[in-house]
Amino acid sequence: MTTHPASDPKDILAPIREMVRACMQCGTCSGTCPNQAVMPQTPRVLWAMLAGGETEAVLESGVFVYCSSCYHCTLRCPRGLPLTEAMAALKQASARANPWAFKATQRFYHRFMASVRRHGRVKEAEFMTWYFWDMKNPFLPLSYLPLGFRLMVKGKVRPEPPSFGGPDALGPLFDRVRALEERS
Ligand code: SF4
Ligand code: SF4
Repeated sequence: MTTHPASDPKDILAPIREMVRACMQCGTCSGTCPNQAVMPQTPRVLWAMLAGGETEAVLESGVFVYCSSCYHCTLRCPRGLPLTEAMAALKQASARANPWAFKATQRFYHRFMASVRRHGRVKEAEFMTWYFWDMKNPFLPLSYLPLGFRLMVKGKVRPEPPSFGGPDALGPLFDRVRALEERS
């Protein structure tokens, strides 16, 4: 007997499928998404794949990686569905299911946030140095050289920008968010 994915206890996307169960495929989310042009599928198609139990295809599509959490779709969905949260949940489920695929993204994110916590803003030179160190790939810095140069020419990156609010000024805020996340 075939078990429907929605009732399969091993279906890791079951809770997310439930979040968008009332989708009526109107396409408003796709039409309003600023990142839809670079997504491999539109958000509407993603929700249809999810509803159809296509767990592997949903995870492999990587659509959620392109979501920048702008909340446009959530605000405009006529069903009032928590679409941004569903995208975030898909990112987490995908990272849990295949941690190696997201290794670089996770290291980038952790070093970025560590810099923000320490200085109240990101210090690009420091954060990228630690990221390159984590990645242990001597050729990786070379691939970032053209982008770094363009950003420096435009004054977007400074070698030693000032910190805000003193050392670890944002530490208590970060600790509070972590405590809330662990409780939810
Ligand atoms: S806007 Fe809401 S109802 Fe319409 S396709 Fe998107 S998720 Fe479904
Ligand atoms: S929250 Fe994500 S999916 Fe929704 S409109 Fe913004 S970028 Fe697109």
